[in-house]
Amino acid sequence: MTIANSYATPPVDGREGPFAMPTDLLIGDAWAPSASGRRIDILDPATEQSLTSVADATVEEGIASVDAAAAAAEAWAATAPRKRADILMACYHAMMAEQEWLAQLISIENGKALPDARGEVAYAAEFFRWYAEEAVRINGELSLSPAGANKIVVQYQPIGIALLITPWNFPAAMATRKIAPALAAGCTCILKPAEETPLTALAVAEIMRRAGVPAGVVNVINTSEPGAVCSAILHDPRVRKLSFTGSTEVGRILLREAADQVISSSMELGGNAPFLVLDDADLDEAIEGAMIAKMRNAGEACTAANRFYVQRGIHDRFVAKLVERMSAMKLGRGTDPATQCGAMINRQAIDKIEQLVADALGRGAEAKLGCETPSGAGYFYPPSVIANVQPGSEILTTEVFGPVAAVIPFDAPDEAIALANATEYGLAAYVYTGDLKKGLRMAERIECGMVAVNRGLVSDAAAPFGGVKQSGLGREGAHHGLLEYCEAKYIAVSW
Ligand code: NAD
Repeated sequence: MTIANSYATPPVDGREGPFAMPTDLLIGDAWAPSASGRRIDILDPATEQSLTSVADATVEEGIASVDAAAAAAEAWAATAPRKRADILMACYHAMMAEQEWLAQLISIENGKALPDARGEVAYAAEFFRWYAEEAVRINGELSLSPAGANKIVVQYQPIGIALLITPWNFPAAMATRKIAPALAAGCTCILKPAEETPLTALAVAEIMRRAGVPAGVVNVINTSEPGAVCSAILHDPRVRKLSFTGSTEVGRILLREAADQVISSSMELGGNAPFLVLDDADLDEAIEGAMIAKMRNAGEACTAANRFYVQRGIHDRFVAKLVERMSAMKLGRGTDPATQCGAMINRQAIDKIEQLVADALGRGAEAKLGCETPSGAGYFYPPSVIANVQPGSEILTTEVFGPVAAVIPFDAPDEAIALANATEYGLAAYVYTGDLKKGLRMAERIECGMVAVNRGLVSDAAAPFGGVKQSGLGREGAHHGLLEYCEAKYIAVSW
């Protein structure tokens, strides 16, 4: 297959990229430009300069991607699990072989620092390895009905064609976290990446194609009209699954769209993670965890600590140490080897951070570090700490999605739990305490899908990732993530 339009990525360690980076639509067995001739300009957030452009799919091309997924569906569902597993494992090895090149690409189009980008590639590839291992363990059930007359046979079948919609903050990992379980279950799919970061998704698709994924099993379309294109796809009766990662606002729109054809929907939505530090916590460990929970991806993570509730006995020491560590972080272009905090994704992201910080300071919070947008090109915001954030401040209820730590003191653990739960979100939470029993009891009472106790990171391909309340529906990762792409078929039988 020839690649007509491509993007020449900068050489990594003096070596050119492994292939000419496709920038068109992948529908069935061909990379092709949009028939409309439309293209989407892709910007480097560190310079605000254009990198390249990608094909901009129309509604008709959205439906063509369903045609391609439908044409490949029967053969893929009938492919032996071992064969599906082998292909997924080949994808894992192919992706890891290009870890450095992919990390550079992610860093260039998303802005994140290289260490974050390298971590993302390893995390993203792990979904291929994990689901290669799961593909051969889709076990059914056999039981006797309580009345004794019937046998109950349950078989897990592929749910059908899946539409996968991903955000820009983890352009590789959010794609593989959906594609890998879909393929392991025997489903074909259409990936619709975020407009800001399509190149990584296109690179992952080309890696998968080269690793042996058959034509039509994974289709990739970028579009400047996600509403119209995704709506058309979700109204095509051949489509049976929607998996979305992004904002709660868009998640609500998509749930309404999916309702018309009663499409099974998995939703990984926004977060507003509380980070609780109790008086008896080990200060150094809590700071270490706080730096990861706040600064991984420069705060552009749905699991990012948004609100630091710190018990009064440790509060001042925690704030002083957090300021010391945050102030030592180097802000800069993601691909610069010294950079620890990269650029934000776009101007709107900077505007939102500035507005939330201004609101908090206006209500009496203290700026301990940062809080000023640097002048010059690029969407940069410095690591920042604001203390004594007052009740009613918008930053307590809205994801800041940037390198700003908002700190609030509390007196008793019960008060901290009430504060942690005072949100419509329920994705991740963090608790630091020297008393594990107390930490586990608190974890049980915090309303969210994932709690890290004395840890700053929850993400793991082998664990069920997801939220409660308005943070989402369903789980990704672990065996749970595979079941999102399966239907339980019950066969009543006597013998
Ligand atoms: P977004 O909701 O603006 O966009 C996400 C995706 O939805 C993009 O691909 C976009 O093109 C598409 N989209 C937008 N409008 C659409 C429509 N009407 N129909 C169909 N698709 C549409 O989110 P974002 O700004 O890209 O990502 C940031 C958000 O994602 C944050 O809220 C973050 O918390 C969340 N997120 C959640 C998780 C999780 O696992 N829970 C992981 C990463 C990010």
